[in-house]
Amino acid sequence: MMSPQNNTMQAPASGVTVRMYNTGFGDCLLLAFRARDGSARYMLIDCGVHHTYSGGASKIRKVVRDIMRATTNHLHVVAVTHEHTDHLYGFKYAREIFENVRIDELWLAWTENPTDKISKNLKQLHGMKIRALTAAVSQLRLSNDPLGGTLQGLLDFEYPNALSATGGNPAQLQYLRTKSRKKLRRAGDYRRPGERPLTLSGVDGVKIYVLGPPRDVDWIKMLEKESEMYLALRGTNEVTAFAAAALATEGTDTLSNEDRELLRRSRPFDESLEISKNAASTHPHYGAFFRNHYGFSRRNRHGPEWRRVETDWLAAAEQLALQIDSYTNNTSLVLAIELTEVQPRKALLFAADAQIGNWLSWHELSWPGEGEDSETIRGEDLLRRTVLYKVGHHGSHNATASESGLEMMDSPDLIAMIPVDKEWAYGRRPPWKHPDEDLLARLKQKTEGRVIRTDEIPSGNRPPKKPRNVNRSEWQSFIRKLDWDRSGDKLWIQVTVPG
Ligand SMILES: [Zn+2]
Repeated sequence: MMSPQNNTMQAPASGVTVRMYNTGFGDCLLLAFRARDGSARYMLIDCGVHHTYSGGASKIRKVVRDIMRATTNHLHVVAVTHEHTDHLYGFKYAREIFENVRIDELWLAWTENPTDKISKNLKQLHGMKIRALTAAVSQLRLSNDPLGGTLQGLLDFEYPNALSATGGNPAQLQYLRTKSRKKLRRAGDYRRPGERPLTLSGVDGVKIYVLGPPRDVDWIKMLEKESEMYLALRGTNEVTAFAAAALATEGTDTLSNEDRELLRRSRPFDESLEISKNAASTHPHYGAFFRNHYGFSRRNRHGPEWRRVETDWLAAAEQLALQIDSYTNNTSLVLAIELTEVQPRKALLFAADAQIGNWLSWHELSWPGEGEDSETIRGEDLLRRTVLYKVGHHGSHNATASESGLEMMDSPDLIAMIPVDKEWAYGRRPPWKHPDEDLLARLKQKTEGRVIRTDEIPSGNRPPKKPRNVNRSEWQSFIRKLDWDRSGDKLWIQVTVPG
């Protein structure tokens, strides 16, 4: 609901209003709650646009200007779920607009804590994989292997600004750390699954549960359950061996000590028994053998060069590249917001880009009751109470658990939200199936058509069309909870969940 005078976003009388901004392709959600004194409390979950989305930077600047008007330059909480550009780059492209905003609290997952040991290891491994892939790409390019170009594309996917040592986009997070009034100093200042539910200052009837990312790294590594595709690379040994070997193709001079040690351990034979590629054709004993049989002669087309397998094995890099992004998705901060003053209680699930392992880990969590509130809450209870689901990873096939996830959301009021641009995603080469057709069909069944998408914001005053087979009065009551940008810019769509 917009107040005509100043365009601020009104907090609902009870519960929460969730506004989903259309940044093109990326998450940007603004939540409004009403405090005891009647004023509004605003929470921003992510603010990103994919860096390859054309016109994305100017689009998100428009969005951020609207956020400033909506909140009168005051965000009580900013939560950033993970380091991918489509969740983060609003803070880069619209930095000068954010300069004028006051941010009270910043919520980041424990995986962003620079002093956390597990997180450090994860980032180190991540950085090494990125360096290995970079090496693989340059080798493939040197040998004119078309895979080089494909891989470069995959790397550009999430890491446009060179392949930084941490493999992420840490600059924007650092900016927010400085900007936030409450500083992140101790481990306890980072969000951890199962911690005591969070509250918003001055707001009653709202508890916020941290579900993910899991502390157990095995869950983070579990990207899919059924498919073997990524699981084949689960063991770090294959990955590190590959990474070390790929790094070695660059020459060992530039390797860090850790990488060099990895490389040493991954070698099948002792280094002293090795003949390096560059020295092979001039080796005093075996040079003739290599020259005659492995195409080392300077004479044109001499010798069966195909016998050399120098770059063939690098094809495995493609899997590694895909896996890297999914790992980062699995470090998503996942929040469940519970409205406690309504019976039955309601939950809103913000799943970021969590993959299957993250989802499964929620079932191990529980929160003991406190005070008058003596009921123990389990992860499963929150799923069963979910009335609003921000769909995982733009609707991809592997970021909404079925039996342990969506199938548990039994509320007759369930609404799903998907930040996505289908035409753009399916038009990519290779295409991203966001949203996945099968998942979308199930979401529509579960919600009786109440699926809100950023690429389907109504134009003007005409509300979304009632699907066939849906009861007219139920659809009307859904439409009453909805509002959207009527200006024609299609900048946002929002839904109010009463508490
Ligand atoms: Zn994303």
